[in-house]
Amino acid sequence: MKTIYFDNNATTQVAEEVLEEIQPLFCELYGNPSSMHTFGGQMGRKIGQAREQVAGLLGCEPSEIVFTSGGTESDNTAIKGTLAALPHKLKIITSRIEHPAVLTVCRELENQGYTVVELPVDKEGQLDIEQLAEELDDDTALVTIMYANNETGVIFPIDKISSLTAEKGVVFHTDAVQAVGKIPLNLSKSNIDLLSLSGHKLHGPKGVGVLYVRKGTRLSPYMLGGHQEAGRRAGTENVPGIVGIGKACELAAKNFEQENSKVRKLRDKLEGAILEKCPDARLNGYKENRLPNTTNISFEYIEGEAILLMLDKYGICASSGSACTSGSLEPSHVLRAMGVPFTAAHGSIRFSLSRYNTEEEVDYTIEKMPPIVNQLRKLSPFVAK
Ligand code: PLP
Repeated sequence: MKTIYFDNNATTQVAEEVLEEIQPLFCELYGNPSSMHTFGGQMGRKIGQAREQVAGLLGCEPSEIVFTSGGTESDNTAIKGTLAALPHKLKIITSRIEHPAVLTVCRELENQGYTVVELPVDKEGQLDIEQLAEELDDDTALVTIMYANNETGVIFPIDKISSLTAEKGVVFHTDAVQAVGKIPLNLSKSNIDLLSLSGHKLHGPKGVGVLYVRKGTRLSPYMLGGHQEAGRRAGTENVPGIVGIGKACELAAKNFEQENSKVRKLRDKLEGAILEKCPDARLNGYKENRLPNTTNISFEYIEGEAILLMLDKYGICASSGSACTSGSLEPSHVLRAMGVPFTAAHGSIRFSLSRYNTEEEVDYTIEKMPPIVNQLRKLSPFVAK
């Protein structure tokens, strides 16, 4: 059975072009970029090229790119590195719907004595910018707000937020792990100080990421050791990963318009048909300002996990908005923060598409969804029989 992969916000297929660039870097060109010999030196040039490719997609200087082990490390570095560089400031502002790579760090810092403000969102997943403006004060070290949400795809008004922080002289970090490659960015024209991205979300390899550090931003290194990455991130470079994320960024920049409009059309077709054909289904999140590849739909009175299992039988991969913790199914913190009713939050499914999805796959899924939902509703204790 062929796999139909609609879980691209979890991870993506590595592009063939990326794989081709990486393959020789394991057994043929495996030198250490810090070595004095020519063999190792070649790796330094490859890293330099990758830095330019990433900078090309982000619209920044190559020297502002720091390679890391992924989105999680980039987020940790941005937060902890800023606080270490500004030890007299003890307040962090974030949102309630951040990825755990940000939220868990902030909550841990709160336990250590920092003041953490988690801004709420409305029922469409949008932030109240006025509340953010009110919270900005002289004690604020950092504002860390994601570019786009991984569960709903809702995009935050990052230009407005970063103008506010710039006015107040507060460092601004954005977790753009889900946004890069899906929405246009030009960091040279923005007020963003720090931005995280991850290779495996844009058809690059897993275990590699980037932290963009705007020239002049005060940041203490998080990983200590050697002098790699100009002293900003210690550890022997993951050369295949770095070359891979570079190529993935080059591909994303090259085919940007064409691929994102194709993905948007497929997403809209899938979403529109499911909402029309499945009774008691509702969209979670703001419809307009959203990533082109993501849709999050709640099906009242049934469990998201049950839908996933039935989709899986047909080879269709998606994900649910619940996390199985300590034996009970908790609706996602994102949907809870948006005030999605309990019965709907439990039955939420995220479909996240990529450039590799086809119209046939969308049509097949549209055909399978209504009978799955009807069958599960018949078994549901919440539906009057
Ligand atoms: N931030 C967001 C918004 C994400 O979606 C993810 C991964 O799901 C991460 C951070 C973590 O990235 P990584 O898997 O590269 O550590």
